[in-house]
Amino acid sequence: MVGELAAVGSALGVLKSLTEIAKNANSIELTQKIIELQKFILDMQTGMTELTEENRTLKQRLEEQQRLQVLAEDMEYVEDGGFYVKKSERAQGRDIAYCPLCWKAAPRTDVPLNPKSGEGYFFCKIHETVFETAAYRALREERSRPARTWREPSGPDGWMR
Ligand SMILES: [Zn+2]
Repeated sequence: MVGELAAVGSALGVLKSLTEIAKNANSIELTQKIIELQKFILDMQTGMTELTEENRTLKQRLEEQQRLQVLAEDMEYVEDGGFYVKKSERAQGRDIAYCPLCWKAAPRTDVPLNPKSGEGYFFCKIHETVFETAAYRALREERSRPARTWREPSGPDGWMR
């Protein structure tokens, strides 16, 4: 397309020379034909510019789709917690959780979840949603249970009990 646009530029250059020649030849008909030709070439130039722009947009869209395709193959749903991880990152020993809502939204994005307190508790700032693993839920239940510790009878009357 760059080559074609350069050719159009050259054609317009030739036309400019022709216009000068036509002026000297003093031929109205020749001048009119040159103007007509110039109009066609300018229309072609406009059309080519539009095609170039469209081509660029399509290329960008294709690249974005390819990027998402690679990403989609890398993303793996983790049932325990309901979020996503990247296989490539897990292989490197990095455990980053990604928001399933952000990943399913349009446009799809891989937004890392914010690891809140401790293991297995994540938060998406965009969706204001919490994701917990079963291990975290068990831990939380454990913590919320009232402490049942047996106390050794103490004090001066301790021996009486
Ligand atoms: Zn999200």
